[in-house]
Amino acid sequence: RADVAMYEAKASGRNGLRFFDKGMQCRVNKRAALDRDFRKALQAGEFVLHYQPQVDQSGQMIGVEALVRWRHPHRGLLYPSEFMWIAEDSNLIVELGDWVLGQACRQMALWQRRAGRPVPGISVNVSARQFHHPEFLPRTIDVLRAAGVDPRSLKLELTESTLVDRIDDTVAKMDTLKSWGVRFSLDDFGTGYSSLAYLKRLPIDEVKIDRSFIQDILCNQDDAAISQTIISLCQILGLNVMAEGIENESQRDLLAKQGCKYYQGYLMGRPVPPELL
Ligand code: C2E
Ligand code: MG
Ligand code: MG
Ligand code: MG
Repeated sequence: RADVAMYEAKASGRNGLRFFDKGMQCRVNKRAALDRDFRKALQAGEFVLHYQPQVDQSGQMIGVEALVRWRHPHRGLLYPSEFMWIAEDSNLIVELGDWVLGQACRQMALWQRRAGRPVPGISVNVSARQFHHPEFLPRTIDVLRAAGVDPRSLKLELTESTLVDRIDDTVAKMDTLKSWGVRFSLDDFGTGYSSLAYLKRLPIDEVKIDRSFIQDILCNQDDAAISQTIISLCQILGLNVMAEGIENESQRDLLAKQGCKYYQGYLMGRPVPPELL
């Protein structure tokens, strides 16, 4: 591929793109090649979802979070931090997001059919670009209908930065989805803009305390105070609180003492392929 990039760089140089130095042209081509690889991977079905359990205080599984991975033919299993950036600033993130939502719903329907009864709900991460796309509402309802999944089983995880953008549009969109039964979770809470006014204004059901506050919660009093404050505030506002990134029992016990009712982390289970859940 490096050869191709060099060739393309030379070719377009002759076409008059002389203000691009060779390095820049090379980067542009590399970028285009990455986009092509990504799109091909989508078409070839190289993306998979892993599922991580979410539990309540009694340890019972109340839901799962779908997390995307790329089964790269040469590089092995890739995690979102290794490839999301490729898609994030282009419409590829919308295409990937559509696939994730569809796949999560189909998986959910499969579990439901096998169990013969409603199963724990599914949480799906939605990127800002995907959420603000004009087709997001109709596509989401199509996906739910096609999979035959009760919208009440679906929780969409959004981050603060997604929600502060175009606040009126955002609330209207969320209200429509909520009228169908879809629930909302505010992911990575505390790391973004965190305006408390938004907590009141947005029709969210759940707040997820970011892992960065949980990590050192046992030795860092500031982190412990932050999580306690988030939990107390959510209790007053009538929101569920889930702590993410719990790796040991002491962290869970402290969070339980602080009033946190829902947990997710390696202690409860790592993200795994659906057949291992
Ligand atoms: P997130 O939504 O906050 O997901 C939680 C991340 O923390 C996941 O990383 C999960 O594997 C990891 N995690 C869970 N428990 C623990 C723990 O106890 N310790 C540690 N160290 N990590 C834990 P992952 O799967 O690498 O995903 C990273 C981020 O990528 C996600 O953060 C989410 O923002 C994004 N992402 C993942 N899948 C999707 C997707 O389908 N669509 C979109 N738009 N974003 C996604
Ligand atoms: Mg999430
Ligand atoms: Mg998170
Ligand atoms: Mg995170």
